Amino acid sequence: MNTERTGGLALAAVFSGHGHPFDLREFPVPAPGRGEVLVDISCSTICGSDLHTWHGRRQEPVPCVLGHEIVGRIVAFGPGAPRVDLRGEMLLEGDRITWTLAASCGECFFCKRGLPQKCEHLFKYGHSSIAPGREFSGGFAECCLLTAGTGIVKLPDALTDTLAAPANCAVATVAAAFRLAGPVAGSTVAILGCGVLGLTAAAMARSLGAAEVISCDLDPGRSAAVRDFGASHFCEPADLLSDTRDLTKGRGADVTLEFSGSSAAVAGAFAATRTGGVSVIAGTITPGGSVTIDPNDLVRRMLTLRGLHNYAPEDLVAAVEFLADTGDRFPFASLAGGAFALEDIEHAFESATVRPGRRVSITP
Ligand SMILES: [Zn+2]
Ligand SMILES: [Zn+2]
Repeated sequence: MNTERTGGLALAAVFSGHGHPFDLREFPVPAPGRGEVLVDISCSTICGSDLHTWHGRRQEPVPCVLGHEIVGRIVAFGPGAPRVDLRGEMLLEGDRITWTLAASCGECFFCKRGLPQKCEHLFKYGHSSIAPGREFSGGFAECCLLTAGTGIVKLPDALTDTLAAPANCAVATVAAAFRLAGPVAGSTVAILGCGVLGLTAAAMARSLGAAEVISCDLDPGRSAAVRDFGASHFCEPADLLSDTRDLTKGRGADVTLEFSGSSAAVAGAFAATRTGGVSVIAGTITPGGSVTIDPNDLVRRMLTLRGLHNYAPEDLVAAVEFLADTGDRFPFASLAGGAFALEDIEHAFESATVRPGRRVSITP
């Protein structure tokens, strides 16, 4: 912990749009205001969405500080800031924490209806343009100012920074998908897509007691990795329906989870879901795809289709607990893609680009 930072200067990698190099700039470290917590960042990982922004495939308001998968130590609490985390554990200066990728108000229409990720006053780390005094709003910096309404989770010592950082994005999103799907103990779960989300989902399905975990990807080269993460069966999309039926006496999967981002996979997920089953669609985050659904099929097979975007604070708690309890059963460490200093952020993004599926860390 570096309490000297309050009142001093700290570095942030300012992103000004696709094609512009990151600008490493020093800004005054802010004193946390009402409800805020100042954190000394120890590690941030580069997420696929950061890469999309860097490559210009996705627009963020600029200039901004990217990065939302963040671990750090508490430096100072503002007045009225939370002194307990989401699990009710006391928070002290020096505690190592991660936090929800968004802060929500808790009072608006959507917050009161269980959709804090759709809060009418939502603030997302790494997704907001910087302003004087509000520069430390993302992960690729030496510190971060947590705004009021952020859900904090204190990290167990056993969980390393590089393992813990993606908890607040990929792992929490997967935990949210299982919350929407309902209990899976003894069930057959089919997972479409074997990227970080799909691998994490296979491991979580296993740890939640799923009897069969069918993982599906266009790339047969993913087969070995996903088996290491708990899948009992791997298939390519063309075989998903027949393989799932073969493994379930012709019924289909109790739960299908779509993390591939392909419209064709969404159609495949619906088809492979058994009568009365649940299909959670979470992979598609850019518009433009379309899927044809026969309403008669929906009616007769009594399917439940659920869309999922981001997650709620309780899912971050589930994610951290999952990694702490079962992370060593699965090779999560193999997803790490090396660590770079903040000054080397350009190289870090290049490295993340050529090694998709690996989480590259920035350690300021
Ligand atoms: Zn992310
Ligand atoms: Zn709200």
